[in-house]
Amino acid sequence: MLIHFLGVNWIKKAGLEKYAESVKSLKEKFIQRVPEFDNINADFLSMTLETLAGVIFEGVIFKDNVILSRQDYAKVQEMGAKQKVTGGSVADYIKARRTVDKKIWDDLFVPYIDNPDAFKTAAHAFIEDRNHVAHSKMLSWSAYQVILKDFNTMGSLILSADAKFEHEETADEVLQTWEAEHEDTEYEREYYRDRLASETGMDILDESGIKDWFDEVLHDLFGAVYQRYHLDVCYEISDFATPTEGEIVFSISCPAVEDGSARIDTIAQYSVDDDLGEDSTCYIVAKDGAGDEICKAEVHFHNGNGYEGEEGIMVATDDSEYDTSKLDDFRDELFDTIESLNPYPAKLDALAYENKGAVQFVADFPCEQCGKFGVSIDETFLPIGRCCYCGYENELVKCERCGELVDADALEHGFCPPCTAYIDKQ
Ligand SMILES: [Zn+2]
Ligand SMILES: [Zn+2]
Repeated sequence: MLIHFLGVNWIKKAGLEKYAESVKSLKEKFIQRVPEFDNINADFLSMTLETLAGVIFEGVIFKDNVILSRQDYAKVQEMGAKQKVTGGSVADYIKARRTVDKKIWDDLFVPYIDNPDAFKTAAHAFIEDRNHVAHSKMLSWSAYQVILKDFNTMGSLILSADAKFEHEETADEVLQTWEAEHEDTEYEREYYRDRLASETGMDILDESGIKDWFDEVLHDLFGAVYQRYHLDVCYEISDFATPTEGEIVFSISCPAVEDGSARIDTIAQYSVDDDLGEDSTCYIVAKDGAGDEICKAEVHFHNGNGYEGEEGIMVATDDSEYDTSKLDDFRDELFDTIESLNPYPAKLDALAYENKGAVQFVADFPCEQCGKFGVSIDETFLPIGRCCYCGYENELVKCERCGELVDADALEHGFCPPCTAYIDKQ
């Protein structure tokens, strides 16, 4: 306790001078008798139990600096001026001006002792008993029993105080030790994993490695969608975003539907366990504009495992596995959904069916933007000129002769191409 709180040179602390003196003289005698202890700190060994008890129960540590007030200073001068007064009394006067830093018993020991009075009593009994034995005094059977009981009491009081001290004071040290142990384990773990990877040739991925691979898989999926649809003005594809927590990785939408509801969001979430022999999963879900699930897939990574074989070479018990087998179906379903995102072609078919082909809903010339025959010429279908495939607003004008809606660019002097041809013939 003394070393813990006051340091190895605790006996040299201000306030413990008288104990230090006693220890010093005893130590000199002790080392004379046992010269091997010459270079060894024999403070404790040469200390009497009474001195130790004095330090523990009555010891007071002062602050190293003594502040003398003006009055103190005047008093010291006055004392010095009186020739009768010896230097010793001046020193005593100054000593008495010191500030208490710690009361050893109250501040350092009591916090860990359940019943300080009982402890003091037990300590005194212990000292008496020890002296009795050490001084070879007569020991009756009943005295022996009393001494045994005292020793037991002292022992159990120390044990419980010790436990309390260990629990409270060493908490920080224990944490530090754990941290150090953790670092060691971390290092061991890395070493083992590196060996397993290099000696068996399989991939052992850590958390970031697994996430990177999942990112890659998702990016490939995005790439497939992009490659297939990015030149098609009937689709809009968002940028790719690496998911962090169940977020949208990319979206594809159909611009023909103005409110943006014709949309598919691909969302991904990772569950990563990078320990050896453990599985990690990338959950992929495609949702429609209303947030309903369209299709989903799981991509798995299994980290390999192994042990050190007899030859001192790592042997694999299971290989690392990259499993994207569920992704093909997901991609096909995604493509299908993308291609049926646009509700208008079906609506057009339905309208045509209802009218048995008697009414034309789309123009017989292609959309200026997408080149498809989807330009509306009937408001019951879509606003005039609007392409049902790409949403482009084609500019349509009525032919002055036949009244047909015609692409503004195709009009010649106000007439549609057939009318122009007819007029030219005339
Ligand atoms: Zn179009
Ligand atoms: Zn015409």
